[in-house]
Amino acid sequence: MPTLDQGSVPASEQLFARAKAVTPGGVNSPVRAFNAVGGTPRFMREAKGAWLTDVDDNRYVDLVCSWGPMLLGHAHPEVQAAVQAAVARGTSYGTPTVPEVELAEEIVARTPVEEIRLVSSGTEATMSAIRLARGFTGRDVVIKFAGCYHGHVDALLASAGSGLATFAVPGTPGVPASSTELTLVLPYNDRAAVEAAFAEHGERIACLITEAAPGNMGVVPPGSVDGRGFNGFLAEICRRHGALFISDEVMTGFRATREGAWGLDGKHEGWTPDLMTFGKVMGGGFPAAAFGGRAEVMQTLSPVGPVYQAGTLSGNPVATTAGLATLRLATDEVYAHIASAAETVKAATSEALTRAGVAHVVQAAGTMFSVFFTDTPVTDFATASTTDVAAYAAFFHAMLARGVYLPPSAYEAWFLSSAHDDDAIGAILAALPEAAQAAAEASNTSREVVR
Ligand SMILES: *Cc1c(COP(=O)(O)O)cnc(C)c1O
Repeated sequence: MPTLDQGSVPASEQLFARAKAVTPGGVNSPVRAFNAVGGTPRFMREAKGAWLTDVDDNRYVDLVCSWGPMLLGHAHPEVQAAVQAAVARGTSYGTPTVPEVELAEEIVARTPVEEIRLVSSGTEATMSAIRLARGFTGRDVVIKFAGCYHGHVDALLASAGSGLATFAVPGTPGVPASSTELTLVLPYNDRAAVEAAFAEHGERIACLITEAAPGNMGVVPPGSVDGRGFNGFLAEICRRHGALFISDEVMTGFRATREGAWGLDGKHEGWTPDLMTFGKVMGGGFPAAAFGGRAEVMQTLSPVGPVYQAGTLSGNPVATTAGLATLRLATDEVYAHIASAAETVKAATSEALTRAGVAHVVQAAGTMFSVFFTDTPVTDFATASTTDVAAYAAFFHAMLARGVYLPPSAYEAWFLSSAHDDDAIGAILAALPEAAQAAAEASNTSREVVR
């Protein structure tokens, strides 16, 4: 522990001030800064099971779970033992190792991918999948959906152009127009927009990338029309035009279900993506991610094929050991427990908000869910954006004050783990009524301001 003033200023505030002096915004990933909800981010010093402990000794039930990875809860004893044993054998060799083969085998066994390449972050996985799709097809255009996040890849940090089927503009300074001028950004769940894009640019489209069930604008499930799911529609239209369908399961993989979001649609509808990306849960809390897919496509990758891709720490023995231990422990019972805990929290949250008169929509994809503070059904980024962020901020802080750590942004999924037992769920349920009341008050205030 760093030396801290024993005065009345909370340790998190002291640390945040120090952090801001040496790191932009005091954080190493923007959403951690609490900008969307206001206030000082809590610096955590320890986590065990479903609970986080901050540097001021406050305890919180964790509904973020490191943004998804901690499927088994924090510091799971068996994962910890496997990691400690791995560390004792040395932390990186720069050679092939046993756990990376076993992790690849585990992923191939659970998903429709035939071959996999390990990398260190979800960003690297999607960036590499797109390069591979372009190399394999010899085409250059990429389609993505507004509100879907695929990491901070230049070509995917794009905003829609001036009309449908027009090329995108950079979504942030620092991304040159030349990096997004081959990207088309379409509204999610909009089949007509996808058809129009393929009609106009079909010959040039290398791939379409989508979150398998978007979670980065809050959870927005792929819609179904006449029993035909949106992902199945995308897989089919890509196939028809010779483009690759990339399903980004960095968040949903091994989380939404045992087989990810694909276990909710493709498995039953009988289609498979050409490429898939994974991360978060498969690293068991360490930096590990992957992209994989059809053998024919993956064989285009170096060293067997011409498309270059590499990584000094890819398949790191400690990270792959943690991921492998996590996936091996993630049994059907684990998913059943998380699903039932999610049902309890969803129902109680909805009931508390209804009682307080707060408009809301709860949406789920398998065990992942989120709560939108709106009365509009959420099907895409435009409808997700109707969420009342002031009401969410008040709700968030009321929950935090009562020992529940929600995502510090209204546009995120809530994550549970197999360690969320009756104690942890009870603490969440106890905090809800007053937090719902706080949301109601903030929501009324913000409406008055708008009037
Ligand atoms: C988190 C996430 C990424 C990026 O992963 P990082 O490890 O943060 O680079 C990519 N795609 C999706 C769907 C994600 O949720």
